[in-house]
Amino acid sequence: MAGALLALLLRHHGAGRVVLVENHPLSLPESPPFTPSFDARSTALSAGTLSVLGDLGLADAIREHAAAIDTVHVSRQSRLGITRISAHEEGVDQLGAVVENRWLGFVLLGALFADKSIQVRAPETLSSICRVEGGYQVSLAGGEVLETPLLVAADGARSKTREWLGISAREHDTGHDALIANVSLAAGHEGIAYERFLNDGPMALLPLPDQRMALVWTGPREQVDRWVALENSEVLAQLQARCPAGAPRLSSIGERQRYPLVLTEACAQVVPYGVVVGNAAHTLHPVAGQGFNLAVRDLLALAQTVGGNSDPGSLVTLQAYAQKREKDQAMISQASRWVPELFRLQHPLFAHSRQLGLVAMDILPGLRSGFAKRAMGL
Ligand SMILES: Cc1cc2nc3c(=O)[nH]c(=O)nc-3n(C[C@H](O)[C@H](O)[C@H](O)COP(=O)(O)OP(=O)(O)OC[C@H]3O[C@@H](n4cnc5c(N)ncnc54)[C@H](O)[C@@H]3O)c2cc1C
Repeated sequence: MAGALLALLLRHHGAGRVVLVENHPLSLPESPPFTPSFDARSTALSAGTLSVLGDLGLADAIREHAAAIDTVHVSRQSRLGITRISAHEEGVDQLGAVVENRWLGFVLLGALFADKSIQVRAPETLSSICRVEGGYQVSLAGGEVLETPLLVAADGARSKTREWLGISAREHDTGHDALIANVSLAAGHEGIAYERFLNDGPMALLPLPDQRMALVWTGPREQVDRWVALENSEVLAQLQARCPAGAPRLSSIGERQRYPLVLTEACAQVVPYGVVVGNAAHTLHPVAGQGFNLAVRDLLALAQTVGGNSDPGSLVTLQAYAQKREKDQAMISQASRWVPELFRLQHPLFAHSRQLGLVAMDILPGLRSGFAKRAMGL
C-alpha cells in the first residue's frame, strides 16, 4: 500500500523515473489483487487521505466501492460516557471512507501500470544493496542491478531493506491479536463507525457498502484463539453482546483472519540516500485506523520534498522531510500505543478519568472538534 502510493506521489511531484520492487506477482489487475498488503482487511481512509487520493485523480474510483463515515461513535463497555463525532458538526461532507484493501489495491495498481515511467519489478526481491557515490547500487535476485539516488524501504514491519540501510527498530509485542472479518447487517449502518473499548481490548465496526461492516476485534492471543474456534452463530452472539445499545443487528459473518499486534518503530527515519516509510517506519495498533493514514501524510511530505529535487537523497533534504513529520508521527504513535493500555487499566482512578474523558469530549465541542480534525488528518 505504502510503496505503490509513494510511486504515484513521487511521479505527481516531479520524479522522472521510479522503480518499484515487490516480491509477490503484480500485473495490470483485471480483478482486485490479493497480496499481503492488499489483503482481506478494510482500511478507514481519513478525509486527508481521500484528498491526497483526489489530487492523484483516484478518489472517485475509490468511492465506487467505499462507504462514507458520517459519524464516529466512541464508547466503553458497561460504563457511562460516549462521544459522537459527526461530519455535519465538523462542517465536512464525510469524516472519511472505508474501503476493502483489495479494491484500494485495484485502483492503485491500475494507476501504477498506466504510468510508463514507473517500472514494476514483480515478483522480484532485493538480494543486496551497496553504497556508491551519490546513492545506492541495488542487486535484485533475478540478476538485475539498479542504481538509485534514493532507496525507499516500504517492505513492511519486518523490513529487510531497513536493516540493510543500518536502521534498527524497536518492537513491542502487545500480546494481543486483531481478529478481522466482514459482517452483514439486518438493516443499514447509516454511515456510523463504532469504536468500542471492551475489557479485553478495543473493537471497531466500520461501515462498508451493501449493508456490511468491517470488524476489527482485538484481545489477548488466547482469547482470540477462542473467538476463532467459535461457530459463526456463537461469535455473532458474542459480538452483538459487546456492541453498544443502538448498534445495528448483525446477521452473518464472513471468513475470520487474525493479525498479531506487534508495534514497530524505526529508530531513524532517514540516512543518506535512504528512507523508511509505511509499516517499515511505524507499525501502529489499529485502534483508531491511523496506520495507513499517518503513512500517507509521510508519503505526501516525502514526495513534495524529493519529487523534483536533483539530489533527492542528500541528508539535508531527507532531514528536512524527517523534521517536518516528526511531531505528527510521535503523537499518533504514542496515542495508538497508550490509548488501548489506558482503557485496559482496571484501577478506579483510570476508570474515572476515562469516563470523564469521554463525557468531556461529548459535552465540549471544541475538544471533540480538535480530536476529530486530528483523526481526519486535517
Ligand atoms: C487489522 C488491521 C487493520 C488496520 N486498519 C487500518 C485502518 O482502518 N486505517 C489505517 O489507516 N490503517 C489501518 N491499518 C494499518 C495498515 O494496514 C498499514 O498502515 C498498511 O498495511 C501499511 O502498509 P505497508 O505498505 O507499509 O506495508 P505492508 O502492507 O506490510 O507491505 C509491504 C510490502 O512489501 C513487500 N515485501 C516485503 N519484503 C520484500 C522484499 N524483500 N522485497 C520486495 N518486496 C517485499 C510485501 O510483499 C508487501 O507487499 C490496519 C492494520 C491492521 C493490522
